[in-house]
Amino acid sequence: MIIQSDWHIHSENSYDATLTLEEIARKAKEFGFKRVGITDHANFNDDKFLWDLKSSANSVRTFQKKYPEMILGVELTPIEKPEFDYIKKHGTRQGYVPPVINEPYALELAQTKDQLIGYGVRYAIGAAHWRVDVPFAKGLPVDIDAMIKEWYRQQLWLACDERVTILGHPWYNGKAVWYDDFSIIPRSMNMDIAYALKENKKYVECNEGVLCSQKASEKFRRQYAEFIRELFEMGIPVTYGSDSHKEYACRHIEMEKILADVGFKKGDFSEIKEKDFWG
Ligand SMILES: [Zn+2]
Ligand SMILES: [Zn+2]
Repeated sequence: MIIQSDWHIHSENSYDATLTLEEIARKAKEFGFKRVGITDHANFNDDKFLWDLKSSANSVRTFQKKYPEMILGVELTPIEKPEFDYIKKHGTRQGYVPPVINEPYALELAQTKDQLIGYGVRYAIGAAHWRVDVPFAKGLPVDIDAMIKEWYRQQLWLACDERVTILGHPWYNGKAVWYDDFSIIPRSMNMDIAYALKENKKYVECNEGVLCSQKASEKFRRQYAEFIRELFEMGIPVTYGSDSHKEYACRHIEMEKILADVGFKKGDFSEIKEKDFWG
């Protein structure tokens, strides 16, 4: 079994997930996973997300009494700095209008490392989800080159930020823009990200939702698994993330097969080491 622990799971405390901690623990035992990390979303520094984080922390803390293999993490996503500043000032995202500037927005994450530790969070997944480079980027039509450039910028930034333990789902894309052929991503970008991960002693995630996406071609799956394998061979520890939201780790068996095909064996996937946990 290549997959032995799951470091990326959303519970019902995430706005887009419904899994209970009971269900996660029950399935994890059934699958023989040693440890599970709960990583609910903290996308913005507004009350709603901070409340979700607080309830995630409280639920995990209570649940750990009967299931100590559960660990509290968080999933962070780059947001635009002007929006972060606006929320800090007004307490809400309501009424925010992105300023028009001539360069991509500076990036920020919802909380500082000390704030996260204050919630009891022990590690963070940092992952790119949408464009942050231009005003109202979320609603823009697909522009492949701009998207690749922006994902590269965010991922490289995450690989260098002290709050990120694991670079989550590299090159995940909700619109599946490059899920036919991964070779559209320039190799030089992948190598830059790899060197930054290595230099900063980060982990990289092999994400079930990306590798086994229903939108991904067979070709993409193979290429993407080879990419993860290459990072592993460069000495970057690879963690598994089911990124479950509604059903728990439902494609991990399928994923095992793809991973075995590119040379992964038992023991190749990492646990987060004790020294890398916070608090
Ligand atoms: Zn994500
Ligand atoms: Zn996630």
